[in-house]
Amino acid sequence: MAIGYYPRGCLQGGVELPTTGPTWQVMRLSRNRNWGHPELVKFIERFAPLAAKATGRKGILIGDMAQPRGGPLPFGHKSHQTGLDVDIWFMPMPDRVLSKEERENIKPSNLVAADGKHVNDEIWSAADVTFIQTAAEQPEVERVLVNAAIKKELCRAEGNNDRSWMSKVRPWYGHDDHVHVRLKCPADSPNCEAQPAVPGGDGCDKSLDHWFADWILHLKIPEFGGSSAGLKLKDLPPACTAVLNAPASPASAASAASEERPKAR
Ligand SMILES: [Zn+2]
Repeated sequence: MAIGYYPRGCLQGGVELPTTGPTWQVMRLSRNRNWGHPELVKFIERFAPLAAKATGRKGILIGDMAQPRGGPLPFGHKSHQTGLDVDIWFMPMPDRVLSKEERENIKPSNLVAADGKHVNDEIWSAADVTFIQTAAEQPEVERVLVNAAIKKELCRAEGNNDRSWMSKVRPWYGHDDHVHVRLKCPADSPNCEAQPAVPGGDGCDKSLDHWFADWILHLKIPEFGGSSAGLKLKDLPPACTAVLNAPASPASAASAASEERPKAR
């Protein structure tokens, strides 16, 4: 169950996304953040081949999901606490299985130009539009967060096409080398707090301009748009105290102890 709000909650009974699938590979394995609500894992397993087919790429690279029990992350994000958020790199999955070292060290490609106002034309391609659109079109997806320069490019590229999918694609700090896909509260999680619905429309209006103000462009936001450092257990929903204090189950203790663990969930 997802408990609480995306930036203030936890995850009970989270499951692990296998680190290597036919059309996905998990990056930064040392972080142990490839956990999520079963609906999130199911979503990734369904979306990865869909995105590969739509873009003509081999697959997707998965960044952070959640910790095994969700909760505040010691660095990198404010959200990702309820097992319903996943970062997916823009950099396509290569045609081979990456080593553990490569997954730790490869730098994701940044699709935004140095001025923060445009995409980097040297690496931006139509497949990136398709990739974002495919994510936004999935019914279980609540929002897709991208850098404002990327949102601006989507507005330009889509011209007179059907733009109804674009309302879910929202600008946010960072997100220049990955998209952040957020799922709606699943039916099995009565204590999951829904995010207010996205305002209608394609978002290609004046509200976008604010992101290109000098002071916003020069804000120094930690890695992916904030951190939850400082958040205490008492700030989380009461149900999270039990989840985060529960002793490790024998199964999860064994899996944490073994490096090359079987991918059974
Ligand atoms: Zn994220």
